[in-house]
Amino acid sequence: MEGFDVSELVPRGFVVESATRDGDGFVIAIRGSASVCRCPICGCVCGRVHSQYRRRLADLPATGVRIALILQTRRFFCDAAACTRRIFAERFDAVEPRARRTNRLDDVVHCLAIALGRRPAASLSRRLNVVVSNDTLLRMVRRRGPRTCPPPAIVGIDDWAWRRNHRYGTLVCDLERHATIALLPDREPATAEAWLAQQSQICIVARDRGGGYAVAAQRALPHAIQVADRWHLMENASGAFLDAVRKSMRQIRTAMGASVIDPSLLTSAEKLQYEGYVRREETNAAILSLKARGIAIKEIVRRTGYSRGLIRKILRGQRSDVFRVRQSSLEPYLPWLDEQWEAGCRNGATLWKVLRLRGFRGCLRVVSEWSARRKKAEKADPAALARAPSARTVARLLTLGRERLSKAETITVAAIENGVAVLVEAREIILEFQGIIRRKALAELDTWISRARGSLVAAFANGVSKDKAAIEAAIALSWSNGQTEGQICKLKLVKRQMYGRGNLDLLQARVMGLA
Ligand SMILES: [Zn+2]
Repeated sequence: MEGFDVSELVPRGFVVESATRDGDGFVIAIRGSASVCRCPICGCVCGRVHSQYRRRLADLPATGVRIALILQTRRFFCDAAACTRRIFAERFDAVEPRARRTNRLDDVVHCLAIALGRRPAASLSRRLNVVVSNDTLLRMVRRRGPRTCPPPAIVGIDDWAWRRNHRYGTLVCDLERHATIALLPDREPATAEAWLAQQSQICIVARDRGGGYAVAAQRALPHAIQVADRWHLMENASGAFLDAVRKSMRQIRTAMGASVIDPSLLTSAEKLQYEGYVRREETNAAILSLKARGIAIKEIVRRTGYSRGLIRKILRGQRSDVFRVRQSSLEPYLPWLDEQWEAGCRNGATLWKVLRLRGFRGCLRVVSEWSARRKKAEKADPAALARAPSARTVARLLTLGRERLSKAETITVAAIENGVAVLVEAREIILEFQGIIRRKALAELDTWISRARGSLVAAFANGVSKDKAAIEAAIALSWSNGQTEGQICKLKLVKRQMYGRGNLDLLQARVMGLA
């Protein structure tokens, strides 16, 4: 086995003078191995020593034992006649001037700070027997700044939330290197513009459809191709259809023959009954409307899946059942009950006891359900009594595949489709747009815009037309902002680890360091 020399423990370029134990650690006295040093100002080689002093430095621990270096540092005369410096301190590769830690210790601590965040890094450092405070870590991350990145050519830009609905920043991602390359402190177009303007080599900018980044990129990089985000385009298209449904709610209600009962005013037993009633009414309406369009019974059977017998019955008007609530046994007592109610006696059990004395033979539940309904009715807004599914529900039903609809939903959809033709057209137009994006059918975009401009989704078509170049790029190019969203997820993770106290420079150093 070979021997082991203490000089192997210290960084290269030093000679060990002595090594001693000092309490829990080792103290190693060292000096530079070179006999001369270059002047930091003029660069000339100097060898005339002026004086010496000692510096104490922390180095990496060895086998978990703390190591302090006592570095004998010389001061040299600079003999160059033209130099402005007369005396300078010796420089070393392994230690920065005035540093209190060796570079290799600094590197390790910096890595910990980047990977873990300050506080966890400080506590892990203690476990590793490296003494470094929270503040030192902060200064270190600040001083070193984020990693330097090669200048990007293709970037994605998007916003991210410091705090949802309060404060937003901007994230720039190098789409070729799959890495975050900048965090900007806000999402103002001017801030993004200033950053982009310094990167004139960028040739493609992928961005969402918000508008702000489009303006910034246009101003800073007029030659760059802008790419609208495909995912947002699909989302915006769906949003446009929802708007179309909202605009058509009146016609939809008419088409569905929506009843004027608010199911929230019903008790649970009644609700079941009521839902059956609504379903039957919808079926009736849909079947009657198919018939009115001259469709043969055989075809109606095929489309709705109902039996021929039932459809005949409906067409003859023999299935218009009236919705009956469960209060029939109460009917003779209603005027009396109303009186009691108005007088302030509203307890179901008490009312029931008195009713029994007056000859009522029903059970307590009938009375308590009646009083529950009265209470609800008093709270309810009379204007909200009309029942119709929400616009969101209608939009969802209209865009789901037929095979995924229940029978009742199929009936509802059929009723709307029969009654609101403009909505059917809007749906076709939106599906067509999404198809163009999916199939990359660039040539069809112009025709689509002119067709859509005459429909319920005209506003969306105008937006597409305004942003046409970027949308064409989104169809033609493979770059997308999807990756930027992934980077934003990573950022959120780091931000959460920093317990919301993240300063932008720390956040940036950590996010870019993790890339
Ligand atoms: Zn000099």
